[in-house]
Amino acid sequence: MKLHEYTISQLHDLISKREISVPELTRYMLDRIESLDSKLECYITVTEKQAMEQAEKVQKMIDDGTLNSPLAGIPMGIKDNICTRGIPTTCASKMLSNFVPPYDAHVVKKLYDNGAVLLGKLNMDEFAMGSSTESSHFKKTKNPWDTERVPGGSSGGSAAAVAAGEAIYALGSDTGGSIRQPASFCGCVGLKPTYGLVSRFGLVAYASSFDQIGPLTKTVTDCALVLNAIAGHDPMDLTSSRRQHPDYTKALINDVKGMKIGVPREFIDDSVQKDIRDAVLNAVKVFSDLGARCEEISIPIMEYVVPTYYIIALAEASFNLARYDGVKFGYRAANPKDMLDFCMRSRSEGFGTEVKRRILLGTYVLSSGYYDAYYKKALKARTIITREFNKAFEEYDIIIGPVSPTTAYRIGEKINDPVQMYMEDIFTVPVNIAGLPAISIPCGFDSKSLPIGLQIIGKRFDETTIIRAAYTFEQNTDFHKARPSLNE
Ligand code: GLN
Repeated sequence: MKLHEYTISQLHDLISKREISVPELTRYMLDRIESLDSKLECYITVTEKQAMEQAEKVQKMIDDGTLNSPLAGIPMGIKDNICTRGIPTTCASKMLSNFVPPYDAHVVKKLYDNGAVLLGKLNMDEFAMGSSTESSHFKKTKNPWDTERVPGGSSGGSAAAVAAGEAIYALGSDTGGSIRQPASFCGCVGLKPTYGLVSRFGLVAYASSFDQIGPLTKTVTDCALVLNAIAGHDPMDLTSSRRQHPDYTKALINDVKGMKIGVPREFIDDSVQKDIRDAVLNAVKVFSDLGARCEEISIPIMEYVVPTYYIIALAEASFNLARYDGVKFGYRAANPKDMLDFCMRSRSEGFGTEVKRRILLGTYVLSSGYYDAYYKKALKARTIITREFNKAFEEYDIIIGPVSPTTAYRIGEKINDPVQMYMEDIFTVPVNIAGLPAISIPCGFDSKSLPIGLQIIGKRFDETTIIRAAYTFEQNTDFHKARPSLNE
């Protein structure tokens, strides 16, 4: 096995036993990025010099015995909408192409405190708006399983980097599925935590009432390790929860006996690609055989989740993106005639098509004539959707289903049909609407050998049960062991 194929826990072992040094491992990963990334285009910025310096520093602390976190010395990548001090944070937008944050996001600080080594900043859809990483201003990331296909999005760079071994793990952000869907397209593990569990301080806002940061990893164990490091209260985020979080590695238990699992029939109907449906039904069988009680349930409100999400998300986005006026941040139009021309041209030249479409739609649904008809109605729908999920959780410990109705599609195939792309978020957005936690784990392959993700949704702040179910599934199947060949 090559070094990039190792998990966090395996590398921690090698580092602890002095079988490899942190600078050696970091150099290996940087060389791998150097040789592979021209093909996959996962990174927007590679922080080579800083990574090597950090590696030396961390090794010294390990040697001194002042650092013994399981993440110490493990090289990772961060989505480019999470602020890193002194390192460009572009949101894959021309608007922020020259933005260098003066501070680290809370999660970045936490990872540094644990001795993590940052390899660079990962590609994404512009301002996290999209599902394929095709709306990036800079480059189109390729799916490591088939480089003619998208890696999913918006955290496509993060998922592709983890799947291809260009990072041992990565952070992404999930507003409507952007961690889970790319994880499912690239065959890795991706967790969207409960809203409020992980601080959003330093995450560039898209839709603030949905956004959450979470890990993308090779295994459920690694996911628990990263979650342990980034979860917890932060006074800089007013929506950050104050409750003590458990040690998530304690949930790595291979046992689902007696667990009650709901399978919504709306999640496995004809709209779902057949091999995905088969893989999910196989997962149901795996859980049943292991002693869980799986039952079909119904969440009739599903037909409203996509419009509800897009109305609220775009309303919040139009507000959040109003700050990019050419004055305070980022791109500035040249030779303006006057103030209005300056502001208008900075925005029209700095933002890409998808972002502009969303700002227009968001402004429209918030305008006085349409507020009641769209925005207010969507807020009411949000309450009903949340209630329906909470009602299901009175009876079931977890809900399972697909992550996406399709596997990875071809680059360019859907980019000109935004509504079709929006509709494919149907199984991921309800989780954000209701503020719930959910994970995507590998559960099969389609007829073209592309990965399929299983989604496990839990109760608010019950990441523990999700991790336990995901870990049990992983221990009893082999899907997570497969790696893309990349013709190496
Ligand atoms: N695809 C969804 C959207 O475009 C989700 C994006 C995300 O989670 N950041 O809004």
